[in-house]
Amino acid sequence: MDSNQNPVLVIGGGISGITTAVEIAEVGKEVILIEKMSYLGGNVVKFNNYFPKLCPPTCGLEINFRRIKQNPRIKYFTSTEVQEISGKKGDFKVKLKTAPQYVKNNCTACGNCIEVCPEERSNEFNYGFTKTKAIYLPHEMAFPYKFNIDTEACKKEACNKCLEVCDYNAIDFSVKEEIKEIEVSSIVTATGWKNYDASKIDNLNYSTSKNIITNVEFERFIATNGVGENKLLRPTDNTEPKKIAFVQCAGSRDENHLPYCSAVCCSASLKHALTIQELYPKSEVKIFYIDMRVSGRNEDFLVKIQDNNNIDLVKGKVGKINETENNNFALEAEDILSGRKIKYEADMVVLATGIVPSDINLNLNKDENQFIKDDQIEGIIPVACSRKPMDVSASVKDATAAALKAIQIN
Ligand SMILES: Cc1cc2nc3c(=O)[nH]c(=O)nc-3n(C[C@H](O)[C@H](O)[C@H](O)COP(=O)(O)OP(=O)(O)OC[C@H]3O[C@@H](n4cnc5c(N)ncnc54)[C@H](O)[C@@H]3O)c2cc1C
Repeated sequence: MDSNQNPVLVIGGGISGITTAVEIAEVGKEVILIEKMSYLGGNVVKFNNYFPKLCPPTCGLEINFRRIKQNPRIKYFTSTEVQEISGKKGDFKVKLKTAPQYVKNNCTACGNCIEVCPEERSNEFNYGFTKTKAIYLPHEMAFPYKFNIDTEACKKEACNKCLEVCDYNAIDFSVKEEIKEIEVSSIVTATGWKNYDASKIDNLNYSTSKNIITNVEFERFIATNGVGENKLLRPTDNTEPKKIAFVQCAGSRDENHLPYCSAVCCSASLKHALTIQELYPKSEVKIFYIDMRVSGRNEDFLVKIQDNNNIDLVKGKVGKINETENNNFALEAEDILSGRKIKYEADMVVLATGIVPSDINLNLNKDENQFIKDDQIEGIIPVACSRKPMDVSASVKDATAAALKAIQIN
């Protein structure tokens, strides 16, 4: 399709990286997609559902996985990161490092290995609230659908139990880390985001109680394949909470933490409040906010919430959360509309912590908050949450724009 036969490199296999790769390949150009985790899908695969339509993550991702499988122009490498970039637009030289793939692609995920594996690891997919064996399926929707081995937890040849029961000879501990050098015409950074570290917000006491969780943890708590398997249970006593408080802008729009707005947290908390009401119609939900920043189709959430007597929106910033008896909490806030200080007792708290850019150890132009700048080395194109916080719908549109830019670089 153009005179430059070098493929495009897309770094990051979340919804924006996947979309960029698929769009590039479907107009006829070769593309290499790399992802540091052992599966594609990024943060969206961890959600219970996603707005505006509240579809499960399978919706949208599955069709993209099919498009990847069917298109020989896309090569993808998981557990892979960039080590070094040199050269210039049209002719970048990139060194890629792939972690040892002890489980080969002929793994059928039959699960015989799990039965015999004696070691356990903290499950990062559920933010450490559950454990898996050292050999594990990252999650039910994993693409590629194969087991992975936690290199720190696994005793490898000293144990060998998984290898002995694998009918497909799919496990090989002699495999080494792989370094590949590739030449590419342009590079799209789709490295996305991670959650702001809530333990840095001293006054909200996240580190001191298990019943204070973050918004991303909430997604894993209520997901059908998550911690509570579609139930919201307090970690301390496994009981259903009756009064749940959401603290908006937890660390966001705050010079001491994140000075910017993450754009999605208000919609996410409204989505979460409505989910709680569906599961537990008698529960009480209070959302403390500074400004309710909800746009487009998500405004429907506001209408639904205004019709629901058990969800209350309080315009006020929470200043303090103190633990009280029975692992409950007293929240102190100022009700901005009435001008009065209020105290609210809750038995579970969700902190709506913001989005921070993923770490990327490449020499790129970044802004003061470490998002990758649009004003970039020629031939390198940042996309979606790697350049600023945005929702899935905006990320997908941004990805299409990035694909168009990338294929024009010779
Ligand atoms: C609590 C919460 C709820 C949300 N709910 C919704 C919702 O309901 N609807 C909605 O539209 N949006 C929602 N969002 C926003 C949504 O998560 C983002 O729009 C979306 O994840 C952006 O996709 P992305 O591909 O840019 O980034 P990500 O999903 O973060 O994907 C980036 C990928 O890049 C990989 N990566 C990172 N660094 C490297 C590297 N150096 N090398 C290789 N790979 C790398 C990561 O492992 C990851 O797989 C929510 C956000 C939050 C915080």
